[in-house]
Amino acid sequence: MTAPLIDPFQRTVNYLRVSVTDRCDFRCVYCMSENMTFLPKKELLTLEELDRMCSTFVRLGVQKLRITGGEPLVRRDIMTFFEAMGHHLESGDLQELTLTTNGSQLERFADQLYACGVRRVNISLDTIDEAKFAEITRWGRLPQVMRGIDAAQKAGLRVKINAVALKGFNEDEMIAITEWCASRDMDLTWIEVMPMGDLGNEDRLDQYWPLKDLRTSLAEHYTLTDLAERTGGPARYVRLEETGQKIGFITPLTHNFCESCNRVRLTCTGQLYMCLGQEDMADLREPLRASAQGEGLLEDAIRAAIKLKPRGHDFDYSRHQVDGQMSRHMSHTGG
Ligand code: SAM
Ligand code: SF4
Repeated sequence: MTAPLIDPFQRTVNYLRVSVTDRCDFRCVYCMSENMTFLPKKELLTLEELDRMCSTFVRLGVQKLRITGGEPLVRRDIMTFFEAMGHHLESGDLQELTLTTNGSQLERFADQLYACGVRRVNISLDTIDEAKFAEITRWGRLPQVMRGIDAAQKAGLRVKINAVALKGFNEDEMIAITEWCASRDMDLTWIEVMPMGDLGNEDRLDQYWPLKDLRTSLAEHYTLTDLAERTGGPARYVRLEETGQKIGFITPLTHNFCESCNRVRLTCTGQLYMCLGQEDMADLREPLRASAQGEGLLEDAIRAAIKLKPRGHDFDYSRHQVDGQMSRHMSHTGG
């Protein structure tokens, strides 16, 4: 038996989020600038390297893999990677394989994802208004994403919608989005906007819509029941008694989840971030590339990295000042 990954605060790390590309077919304003410079291809882990890397994590006890990006489904031949990870599901070494996607390519890939063992997808969608969708994603088109959602549900994938809560943008759609999700039997999670990336000249705090305010508004329309469910991450859930839906709130800026944090994040260049809100990272690409035979070096590097996982993060929006602001983009670390 291989010893599990346990950090200095006795938290077992069994959840890996993997960014497989920094590229994307959208340019969401809170995530990317319009003219992004992407990494040279040679910096990225190849699909084979991603397979070796993730398989090593699975061997070390990771039971849940979430594939993200950038937009994971724009990476060429990405289905070969999903197939490889699907084998770990078949062997029982991996319990869940999921992805976070903008939905644009799901019409093409939903059936194949299901065949690889994927059963749930998170689809990011901040508005169901076509014009507003084009505005927030810059390059995205809503009908294409809607066809993707149809295809996902038809393939048998359970869909959860993730919406970034943006003051003055989708505040007025809170009920419409909720009802739309209910009508399609989809759960919904609201994400508080994070001090990341680059919003151009716009002030991030102008768009900051605290989820406690959103929750208060929601409670004026529905009966909310708190759910005890915890996933080891920043999400908290309620059930809407009127619709039976589960609604999640992800408030990454609060500190109240760090003590149960079970996850680490791998960038598309093979850097492991131990905490979303800290700069501590370990380069795993070098040990990976250095250990063509066997994964001893890589395993040692992963274990050493887990020893560096910090107790918690440094985000703080209090007193209207963004402390602990991160310079890296979500599309690099993976959301
Ligand atoms: N392209 C895929 C997508 O959009 O789902 C996966 C990558 S994206 C970086 C993952 C998630 O991060 C999305 O749900 C997106 O809305 C969220 N995200 C990006 N920038 C964010 C920010 N500044 N604050 C909060 N969430 C953000
Ligand atoms: Fe692309 Fe996702 Fe970032 Fe939007 S949030 S630009 S879809 S990576």
